[in-house]
Amino acid sequence: MSNPFWSPALAGLEPYVPGEQPRGRKLIKLNTNENPYPPSPRIREALADPALVQALRRYPDPESADLCAAIATQYGVESDQVFVGNGSDEVLAHSFYSFFRHDEPLLFPDITYSFYPVYCQLYGIDYRTPALRDDFSIAVEDYAGPAAGAILPNPNAPSGRCLSLDEIEKLLQLQPERVVAIDEAYIAFSGERGGDSAISLIDRYPNLLVIQTLSKSHALAGLRLGFALGQKHLIEGLNRTKNSFNSYPIDSVAQRLAVAAIGDGGHLAESCNRVVATRERVAAALAELDFEVVPSRANFLLASPGTMDAEALYLALRERDILVRHFNKPRLAGYLRISIGTDEEMDQLLAAVREIQTAQG
Ligand code: PMP
Repeated sequence: MSNPFWSPALAGLEPYVPGEQPRGRKLIKLNTNENPYPPSPRIREALADPALVQALRRYPDPESADLCAAIATQYGVESDQVFVGNGSDEVLAHSFYSFFRHDEPLLFPDITYSFYPVYCQLYGIDYRTPALRDDFSIAVEDYAGPAAGAILPNPNAPSGRCLSLDEIEKLLQLQPERVVAIDEAYIAFSGERGGDSAISLIDRYPNLLVIQTLSKSHALAGLRLGFALGQKHLIEGLNRTKNSFNSYPIDSVAQRLAVAAIGDGGHLAESCNRVVATRERVAAALAELDFEVVPSRANFLLASPGTMDAEALYLALRERDILVRHFNKPRLAGYLRISIGTDEEMDQLLAAVREIQTAQG
């Protein structure tokens, strides 16, 4: 649809379609990769702190200095190597604007986070999407040649497949003149805590930007807090864009709660380990039900339900008040993305799948 008052770019824009957030009904919600467990108990303590209420009288710290310092301490970098945003989506938006508007196309996988093409359309960025291999893995050698840079989630979404640090280094070396952004929204579920994070490479690669979020790993999707880490010159670039857009600072409540959550590494590890244990159990159970399950290092599984039609299964589950994700893309038409919920929720999902399979004979 177009409109004579709109800029031409809006006419062709395909807005991002987020997973449903239904209101009112009690559903088993396995469609938006939220963490099923509560955030750190330190959040509750911080919320009860009278200083939080006092802080609301004043405008928020536009630099989020305490929060940047807390993130820097946690990840072993300097405060001026940290950029914070209202969710990693905002950090990504500023990254696309700051680093990826060149004459050459930006590179990202053909199956990946569906917001990337939307940012490209909004900012008039041309892009090229190297195909994933048949097993959904990324072939890093396809990211060579003139480009505006590259962005890849690690683990990738919605496949859940991970690149090794060696492969990320290869990618950084293939694009030494451009920024390579690694979107680590799901890295905390990838094995040893932070084991595969590219943060350890930041000192050696001036073109590396690592983006993380508190939404999934810290169970704080409603807080809207994401951040980027990189060498100082990249963080300066992001600040230049942010200040030019006069984008909103992180509100005072979010700054304080994020400081509380970031320091609780023990809770983070415990919560993520629980999700990972459930993921492995459910992957095995689905395989027994004849699903083809893509090996995942994230808090979701991409799985194809054997002889059943994936969309029909999505609808049948929905009728039973279980929400999973089905994507309208040819390569993904035969698959469902199932977020990992509590053990009880996943048992209900498995029971429903068995019931639907039996009903279909
Ligand atoms: N990156 C990836 C790969 C994601 O899947 C998501 C969540 N949909 C985000 C970034 C954005 O997360 P948030 O804005 O909640 O930090």
